[in-house]
Amino acid sequence: MQNDVVIIGGAFSGLAAATYLARARRRVCVIDAGQPRNRFAKASHGFLGSDGSDPAAILARAREQLAAYPGVTMVAGEAVGARAVGDGFVVSLSSGEEIAASKAILAFGLRDSLEPMPGLQERWGKSVLHCPYCHGFEFIDRPLGVLARTPMSVHQACLVAEWGPTTLFLNGVELEQKSAEPLARHGVTIEPRKIKRLVGEGCALSAVELEDGSQRPVAALYVAPQSSLSSPIAMQLGAAIDDGSVGPMIRTDADRMTTVPGLYAAGDIARARHSVSWAVADGVTAGTSVHRALVFG
Ligand SMILES: Cc1cc2nc3c(=O)[nH]c(=O)nc-3n(C[C@H](O)[C@H](O)[C@H](O)COP(=O)(O)OP(=O)(O)OC[C@H]3O[C@@H](n4cnc5c(N)ncnc54)[C@H](O)[C@@H]3O)c2cc1C
Repeated sequence: MQNDVVIIGGAFSGLAAATYLARARRRVCVIDAGQPRNRFAKASHGFLGSDGSDPAAILARAREQLAAYPGVTMVAGEAVGARAVGDGFVVSLSSGEEIAASKAILAFGLRDSLEPMPGLQERWGKSVLHCPYCHGFEFIDRPLGVLARTPMSVHQACLVAEWGPTTLFLNGVELEQKSAEPLARHGVTIEPRKIKRLVGEGCALSAVELEDGSQRPVAALYVAPQSSLSSPIAMQLGAAIDDGSVGPMIRTDADRMTTVPGLYAAGDIARARHSVSWAVADGVTAGTSVHRALVFG
């Protein structure tokens, strides 16, 4: 085999896996299309030692450090297909190149689809947010909104209320009767009118404009995007995929191996809760599990 391990996706989970494999003296090839999920945010929060750093800078530093190890190949490009061949895998790139390896790690992340609402897309990651742990502190005690989409939006509104006075915008979504009590207990205001657009200077948000033209002041609006796997490669290789609360999730065991022997998955695609720290931890688990499988398998 040309490589011990091929990694599809070279952001937080993929680079963490590659770093551990490189340090274990393995030949590792990382293929990356350069579109990490948090690329819309200027600052990444909560990752130990890098709180508030530009996520692109965290990745650039990780790539630079990884490139210094022997046996590492980094390919900028898109993997478009993969197949099992003998005891390993062959990955095809959009350039036509093929990369063979004994083991493969999927680390290609999720793709988010946002509600088609005027003013929403361009504020994603800035004042339209998905996670209060990641970006909530930057908006504490200011008026906050949550856009209702699923029954989980009620839970999200109750949680977001920990950071500031919160309004749940129903925007045409019907509330279950049992939701009224927790929302009242957490002091969440319910706004039943439909939203016309989001208003604010540049990427900042100052208000949500409603269908009747009135405006409600809001500094940050939380939304739950619809997420899907960035690549069909897990399906092509026959890995089992479960329905997670925010989208599909590749099934893995405690070693992060999928249901296909020799195929591992790490990061957002293989877990229900998402953050840079968890993606990095998963990458370390997948990388060390693959190494042990190469040694003892
Ligand atoms: C707007 C926003 C802000 C966020 N802010 C924070 C924050 O402040 N703190 C925090 O901890 N978390 C934050 N997150 C969550 C964090 O971004 C994810 O948990 C993390 O990026 C997951 O890492 P990953 O390696 O699994 O996937 P990703 O970071 O999404 O990386 C996947 C990589 O694989 C590549 N790829 C995809 N398909 C292919 C293919 N076919 N071939 C080759 N490469 C491919 C992509 O281009 C990308 O580079 C945020 C998320 C969003 C959406």
